[in-house]
Order: sequence, then C-alpha cells, then structure tokens
Amino acid sequence: MSPRPRAFTKFRDVQAELDSTGAAIYRDADGVESLLILNPYSINYVHSYAEDSPFFLGLAEGRLRGSKCRKPKCGFVYGTPRSHCMVCGAPTEWIDLPTKGRVHSWTTCHFGSEAFLKETPYNLALVEFDGVGSLLLVRLRDCVESDLYVGMPIEARFATDPKYSITDVWFVPSR
Ligand SMILES: [Zn+2]
Repeated sequence: MSPRPRAFTKFRDVQAELDSTGAAIYRDADGVESLLILNPYSINYVHSYAEDSPFFLGLAEGRLRGSKCRKPKCGFVYGTPRSHCMVCGAPTEWIDLPTKGRVHSWTTCHFGSEAFLKETPYNLALVEFDGVGSLLLVRLRDCVESDLYVGMPIEARFATDPKYSITDVWFVPSR
C-alpha cells in the first residue's frame, strides 16, 4: 500500500480502488477528503426454520408443500404454509401443492439485495394453484417481462444442489 491512497471524486472509482488496494480517498464537491479503508466483516448466523422445516426439506426433495386447515368445515388450503388457519384459527396439516400453476400477478425487480443484484432485472410472481386459497411468491425465470401475462401457465423447478432456502424453487413458463 502506498503511503497516501489515491484520491477519487466518483464513488465507483473509490469502490474499485478499495477492492484493489484496500484504501482510497474520496474527495467531495467541496474538496473535503475522506480516507476510506476496506474492513472485511463476516458472521455465521444459525437460523432455525422450526415448524417451517418441512417446507424447506420438501424443496430439497422436489416437493412444493403447502398447508391445509384441519377443521373439516373450513379446510382452507394455503399456498404459503401456515401453522394455523387464518380463517378459523385451527391447526393445519402439511399437503403437497401442485407444481404447476398460473401467474396471478408479477413484478420486475431492477434492484435487489446483494445476493440478487447480479440477477437484476429479475421477475417475482405470485402463483395461484388449482384448489389452493392463497398465493405463493417465487422467482420466475427463463422469461422476460414482456413475456408475462396474468393467467400465464407456469411450473416449478427445483435446485439440484439445495441450500434449504426459498431460492431452491423457482418457476418457469410451461411449454
Ligand atoms: Zn380453517
């Protein structure tokens, strides 16, 4: 590292210098110089899925799991699993959802969290399934925004190397 880091007026140049040397100076419009240094930082976070565990274990088996209210007179079916019924409050049981559904609505994301930035723009869809009373939010791949329409038939794909994350499932247009 040189005794005095190089100075830049654009933050993207500062970022590139930080990535390269670990130190840079940002000079603002008033000529004020700020020394910036790169400090690597990481943590391991242990997260329990608790009663949601069957959903994520199911994804690793290529199964999309929802839940169904145990009360016979209600029987509401959830596309996004819930431990208890939002309609009547009774406990639910796990069921397998269809792996084919339709686009209920969608949005195209031109910005995202760090993990998804390299995939922008990407599409998120709310999926509706036959016989299911609520929707599932997932990524929609292998299509661009201009391909999409309400009611579009789509089907699930599952990661072959599961990470036990919602990114283990995505949908693509049915062909
Ligand atoms: Zn219910």
